[in-house]
Amino acid sequence: MSRVFNFSAGPAALPQAVLEQAQAEMLDWNGSGMSVMEMSHRGKEFMSIAAEAEADLRELMAIPDNYKVLFLQGGASSQFAMIPMNLLGEKKGADYINTGAWSKKAIAEAKRYCDVNIAATTEGTSFSSTPTQAELNLSADAAYVHYTPNETIGGVEFPYIPETGDAPLIADMSSTILSRPIDVSRYGMIYAGAQKNIGPAGLTIAIIRDDLIGDALESTPSMFRYATHVDNDSMYNTPPTYGWYLAGLVFKWLKGLGGLEAMAGINQAKAQLLYDAVDGSDFYANPVEKESRSWMNVPFTLANPDLDAEFLKGAQEVGLMTLKGHRSVGGMRASIYNAMPREGVERLVEYMQEFESKNG
Ligand SMILES: *Cc1c(COP(=O)(O)O)cnc(C)c1O
Repeated sequence: MSRVFNFSAGPAALPQAVLEQAQAEMLDWNGSGMSVMEMSHRGKEFMSIAAEAEADLRELMAIPDNYKVLFLQGGASSQFAMIPMNLLGEKKGADYINTGAWSKKAIAEAKRYCDVNIAATTEGTSFSSTPTQAELNLSADAAYVHYTPNETIGGVEFPYIPETGDAPLIADMSSTILSRPIDVSRYGMIYAGAQKNIGPAGLTIAIIRDDLIGDALESTPSMFRYATHVDNDSMYNTPPTYGWYLAGLVFKWLKGLGGLEAMAGINQAKAQLLYDAVDGSDFYANPVEKESRSWMNVPFTLANPDLDAEFLKGAQEVGLMTLKGHRSVGGMRASIYNAMPREGVERLVEYMQEFESKNG
């Protein structure tokens, strides 16, 4: 068997130790005689898996008691609609910060339900920066303020948490959740598709402050109401049981490594290694302003894009996979979530240097 270093943005690499444990438990979970995939979600075995995963996530992120944790389906993309449906209340509008491709999708969806005030946009810098707090034009009566702390495609990350006064701050943390400690109490709601830094595709996690639950627009279907999922412990319908279980294994793995404080150190060092390699060369470039560079998604371009295909082919030959940039920006992108070991980044940097010395 030979495992590669997979730099995919999502679905992304999972920790090998987690996959090995899942493999060992595949046919017989904990003496139950069945796979987690085959269990009733209402049976005591799965209920214990579900409760333990939630408890571990709460501990890892230090989630305060006045927040609910939901294990949902539909991806972050469904949240783009569920957020206005559930959080507008009596208000007519919401503020959105536009820092790239995922912000834009959230904005387009919100426009179906309300007036969207663009509190700031960095489109003028081709999304290579984040707005400062002083640049945010927040409206007086916004139901909430939505932003994307880490733009997965552009590799742009906020270096601070926006201050939004009375309006709850809502964050799409799909590609940055669990990469470091965050102060959950600063947010009204945090959500993330699992397939980047949590577990397999098909699971979506939402962390919502109690007072924001229960005021959905009248027309909101039951499945799209946060209250439905809160009232039923995320088991109103059949939840994504296997994804929930795997996410639980990932949470245990993170705790074993020392939690999010330890992950922050590891992740920052990995990113620094790669940015130093890019900045230290005229052959590679990253367009993002230094203070807004992502720890998780590192896009870079070659001085001569005619060499892109050869770069990717050579990378594949040495087991460095899925480095092609998003089709909307081209070039390369290395996604280096929690499950990417430092060794993978070191190997990438070595390969980049070899490639440059042959072609530079
Ligand atoms: C991947 C991603 C999404 C889309 O997630 P789905 O689970 O595929 O809907 C949304 N926002 C961000 C920031 C992402 O990285």
